[in-house]
Amino acid sequence: MKKLILLGVMSTLFLTTACARSETIFDKVPFLKNIVQNDKNGQAVEEPIEENPIEQKNDDLNSQSKQEITLNDIFFNQIKEVNGQKIILNPDNTMALVNKQFGLPETFLPSDLVRPKVNFSFGNQKIDKSLMRKEAAVALEKMFKEAVRNGIELFAVSGYRSYDYQESLFHAEVDKVGLDKAVEAVAVPGQSEHQTGLAMDISSRAENMLLTAEFGNSKEGKWLTENAHRFGFILRYPKGKESITGYQYEAWHFRYIGINAATIIHENKWTLEEYFQIVKKV
Ligand SMILES: [Zn+2]
Repeated sequence: MKKLILLGVMSTLFLTTACARSETIFDKVPFLKNIVQNDKNGQAVEEPIEENPIEQKNDDLNSQSKQEITLNDIFFNQIKEVNGQKIILNPDNTMALVNKQFGLPETFLPSDLVRPKVNFSFGNQKIDKSLMRKEAAVALEKMFKEAVRNGIELFAVSGYRSYDYQESLFHAEVDKVGLDKAVEAVAVPGQSEHQTGLAMDISSRAENMLLTAEFGNSKEGKWLTENAHRFGFILRYPKGKESITGYQYEAWHFRYIGINAATIIHENKWTLEEYFQIVKKV
């Protein structure tokens, strides 16, 4: 019964938030069609255009898109289709593109979850949502420390979320309000970036630790938008990109992908979907 409900849900179309609310099938991402190249760390590198070095300094979309951005193929989703859904076969990939088109396996549990040493909105409680994968946790700690040095106090609100927890949230909502309303309120299991252990929702005292769009206009939200890429994070669901990400603007949701790719995305004002449209596989 559960599976039948989920299959029905996955074919429903609407736009809502990614952190707790439901997601639609988003099939406009021409993700795997590109060819891609990388550096030793496997992160994307930009290769300058020799014939016009002046233009390299111009970071607008036009000049940037003329540069060759490359990425090792291990950072691309490997996909298997199951019951019409595209399931990611390499979910350990720190650059996994998880969205309404590409879902995580039900059984995926990151093996290196740790609790970053940062301030949490819920204090010292030992709960799953305090966890992140090691690499992302270390980066988050650095980011929060740098924020403090700049007079910015951040609070981590919600990190890792298991498939089963997401599923229980979803079915509880179905029992409460029925399927049609539930799909508008709770994310479909497997389609939440929080299951990767690479995402963290962030807030501030001024926002009462809540996840609000206003956070984006606060000094804390602005600082994050301008600086997160230096630590490998991106604002995953920016304003004005709803039709590309498939999600409403989420001022609070930051996703770790590594410094190189995050910097390229930040400088070009791209989303992760747009990055994967342009980056070439090597
Ligand atoms: Zn989130």
